Amino acid sequence: MSTDYSLPSDFNETLVSKYDEAIANGHINFNGELAVNEKIQELAEGTNINFQLTLLESLVHRPEKGDKELDPFANPEPELTIVDHLGKKDELKLVYNKFPVVPYHFLLITKDYVSQNTPLSASELMSMYTILKNVQTQNDDEWFSFYNCGPESGASQPHKHVQFMTLPKGFIPFPQLIAMKSEPFLPNDKTEPLQDGALPFAHFVARLPDSDFDEDDLSLFFASLLQRTLTTLREHDATHISYNFIMTTKYMLMVPRSKASYKNLGINSCGAMGLILCKNNDLLQMVKEDSVLTVLTDVCFPSSAGQKSDEYSY
Ligand code: AMP
Ligand code: AMP
Repeated sequence: MSTDYSLPSDFNETLVSKYDEAIANGHINFNGELAVNEKIQELAEGTNINFQLTLLESLVHRPEKGDKELDPFANPEPELTIVDHLGKKDELKLVYNKFPVVPYHFLLITKDYVSQNTPLSASELMSMYTILKNVQTQNDDEWFSFYNCGPESGASQPHKHVQFMTLPKGFIPFPQLIAMKSEPFLPNDKTEPLQDGALPFAHFVARLPDSDFDEDDLSLFFASLLQRTLTTLREHDATHISYNFIMTTKYMLMVPRSKASYKNLGINSCGAMGLILCKNNDLLQMVKEDSVLTVLTDVCFPSSAGQKSDEYSY
């Protein structure tokens, strides 16, 4: 049992060896071999924004939409379980994604059923941060975590899960560029989260401090981004609370969502940070014709860059 957030000392070795074993035994269905990746840039008001388009026609076996009765996270397969106890009350587990597109993709899940529509708890945020601080596969792999929250966020499973994946080599997502140009975020009345005015859709970035911080600080950063998100959703009369959330050791990004897909193209947190997964060539051609910025503008809300919070804001 863990009484704090620490990971087993052999976490990284287990992460790699148990994955390789699960692949060899057929417990994990790796979908990435036939993925064709293309890095592109689109110009937004004079600024180049990085995107990656992935064509993956062989994406198979994954349940399109899970439900509470057929919950894959209720009793995770032992072969997919990486860490059995994590979190302040040992309420979390780590399991591999059974249908990954990127190797070693894993998930932080609640042991008991908790809805994917709930915000992240202090314990979940601190567990995420601890994992991100420690996870290492190949030397230069850069890890990020993401949470698709709410009915229009692109999630397929309703049981609470946060995901961990590596970035494509050499890919610098827009929130990283925004965060690196800024001072660490101090959540208070005077500081707004960052938004790059060049991007047409609402996105809230907080650069994390380099110094140590605890779960209360993390909750405060998360809550500041959620406040802006709730204000955006209310301003646009949204009837649901849906957003994408990304966290690395350096920054957090939150993107409020108006809808789950553009035409037939589903967009989740990976999409919101610029990694677009197309399940057939028609979708890929459609994205190229319409542009990624058009897609994201459509599934998100208009940018509120420059708009200050006032007494009507959350
Ligand atoms: P999302 O689609 O964002 O809600 O993420 C759900 C994730 O769970 C996807 O990455 C699926 O591939 C993964 N998944 C689905 N079924 C299982 C399962 N039985 N075991 C582990 N992961 C699963
Ligand atoms: P989905 O889009 O939810 O059908 O996701 C298919 C599988 O790929 C799931 O295991 C997701 O967690 C994962 N995934 C989703 N988007 C991306 C992406 N842009 N790049 C790589 N993997 C992704």
